[in-house]
Amino acid sequence: MTEKERIAELVAELNQRAKEYYVLDQPSISDAEYDRLYQELVQLEEQFPEFILANSPTKRVGGVVLAGFEKVTHEIPLYSLSDVFSKEALYTFDTRIRKLTSQPFNYICELKIDGLSVSLRYQSGQFILGATRGDGTIGENITENLKTIQNIPLSITNPLNIEVRGEAYMPKQSFINLNEIRENEGQATFANPRNAAAGSLRQLDTKVTAKRNLATFMYQVAGVNIAPTQSETLETLSKLGFSTNHDYQVCESIDEVWAFIEKMAELRHQLPYEIDGIVIKVNQFAVQSEMGFTVKAPRWATAYKFPAEEVETVIESIDWPVGRTGVVTPTANLKPVQIAGTTVARATLHNVDNIKAKDIRLNDTVILYKAGDIIPAISHVLLDKRSADSEPLEIPSLCPVCQSPLIHLNDEVALRCINPMCQAQLKEQLAHFVSRNAMNIAGLGPRVIEQLYQHQLIKDVADLYQLKFDALINLDKIKEKSANNLLNAIEASKNNSVEKLIFGLGIRHIGAKVAKILAEHFGSLEGVMRADYESVAQIDGLGQAIAESLTTYFKNEQVQALIEQLKNCGLNFAYLGKKPASDSKFSGQTIVLTGKLEHYSRNELKSILESLGAQVTGSVSKKTDLVVAGEDAGSKLTKAESLEIPVINEAELLEKLAK
Ligand code: NAD
Repeated sequence: MTEKERIAELVAELNQRAKEYYVLDQPSISDAEYDRLYQELVQLEEQFPEFILANSPTKRVGGVVLAGFEKVTHEIPLYSLSDVFSKEALYTFDTRIRKLTSQPFNYICELKIDGLSVSLRYQSGQFILGATRGDGTIGENITENLKTIQNIPLSITNPLNIEVRGEAYMPKQSFINLNEIRENEGQATFANPRNAAAGSLRQLDTKVTAKRNLATFMYQVAGVNIAPTQSETLETLSKLGFSTNHDYQVCESIDEVWAFIEKMAELRHQLPYEIDGIVIKVNQFAVQSEMGFTVKAPRWATAYKFPAEEVETVIESIDWPVGRTGVVTPTANLKPVQIAGTTVARATLHNVDNIKAKDIRLNDTVILYKAGDIIPAISHVLLDKRSADSEPLEIPSLCPVCQSPLIHLNDEVALRCINPMCQAQLKEQLAHFVSRNAMNIAGLGPRVIEQLYQHQLIKDVADLYQLKFDALINLDKIKEKSANNLLNAIEASKNNSVEKLIFGLGIRHIGAKVAKILAEHFGSLEGVMRADYESVAQIDGLGQAIAESLTTYFKNEQVQALIEQLKNCGLNFAYLGKKPASDSKFSGQTIVLTGKLEHYSRNELKSILESLGAQVTGSVSKKTDLVVAGEDAGSKLTKAESLEIPVINEAELLEKLAK
């Protein structure tokens, strides 16, 4: 192949990968592989500039604008960053940019948060517009989605007109939880927290975004300097009410920069969010503007990318475990290897489509990496190490546990066993039923559960409440004390407030939080069972999918029989938590607290009002019923007055409360 042909091939491949990454939020290769191909293109283009193509990814900022979102023009474009992958390249960057100025400067090193750029516009201190980077010049209007992120201030302390930029990201734990839920529900999982964050922000239904637990770190003001340096800008942004990352360091030399990189390369695994490198910026804005930009990135900054942690290993066997909801998740057992600080012996293969796309087979030598540095995943098979007699993997057509046919329900990617009496599902359901957020019955680990089924002591969760001491004591490794403890824990669980039972039933889409909302709203399990679709769908924070799933579940006769049995066993079906007083004057009101309060802290008043059934929110809108304004109340008071919303002071509120 000629260099010209290779350049064309790389451009086509990288553009295709970028589409999967930025448009579909579903990359099919690892970032490290993408970066390798990209670097190959950069080098070829340097050697053969005459073959550079107009649509080369080196000439433009990556993303695109999705249909369905309004477009936002960035008057000041958002840039990408050049990147370096070695100490040597970092020092070359230093030498190169020092030639661009005669002024003295120092560097600021910031963590490279692995999320997506967002831009937030404030007018007179109020958040009015939020957008993605898009292709740098045109982004997507995602204002309503961004409003659901808790650490984005809806108004700031100064009534400024500014545009603040930074990174929206998904914390590691939220990413793990989200993928677990998606896998259980047969949906495709996200490859890493960055794609998960991007997918969550570009949701037409903002309720979905709200549930995804995103956060931001802001680091830049577009167009104006609110301070002479980047480090002071971060401090000022923080004072204005933005969330900024405090793990930055000002460095006097490139040696100090390198020392910071080495330190963070060690510490990064302990951070609750993912970083994929360190951004090194010239700290002084005057020097930055002297250095300027290329078409794609600033000359005064670069990103040092941590080397991808990838290792080679062998697939020794493949299991097809059946989860609580019947989803079968192919899982590879690997020759154990060390990666990103842990030993890995198993990796999920996600689903059949993934196995087919990567042509994964038994005994294959594969490259393993940590997706988003967290979950071990297989990036690709080393085909030249495959033995000649290897055969494509046989996809099971029957459930490995109950032998019922496996199917793809409603075109899901997941394979599912739909036999409700499948033992694998029942065991997983029981494990869920006794878990801490559900009925919280300690002493029922997988080994005991296995034996309960083996000895036919149990067939569904209601049988738990019929267990007798004599039967338990006969099980392997169960002594008198643990049998008694277990029976006591089972007995105690009968008195749980009902949200634990609702969650424990394992109804699709009903997590612990939703269970609590339902219990609080309807007061009892009977109330929840009687609720119709409309009355569930309209509850704040729930929605159609939950209403659908809940009503379908309770219509099932087997379910009704199970609930009847649980009732006969003496389980509490009532909500025992605090109930908002529905007859109080504040019930159902949306109230905003602003300014300095004298007698109570804002949080104290908030909980008092909430206990009386009010909703206390952070910003004034047409939906606000009442504003309580303390001393020095600023923009919220002005807004309330302009919307003609009733305003009272703290003393007046206390008087109302006393009544
Ligand atoms: P980038 O993510 O490598 O770097 C630029 C971005 O870093 C900025 O836009 C900003 O959002 C972010 N950033 C985080 N912290 C920052 C901070 N403190 N200061 C300034 N910026 C900060 O560049 P990109 O153009 O967004 O994406 C390119 C990368 O995406 C590639 O290198 C590759 O890793 C990945 N990618 C992967 C695939 C794939 O198929 N796997 C496809 C396309 C792109």
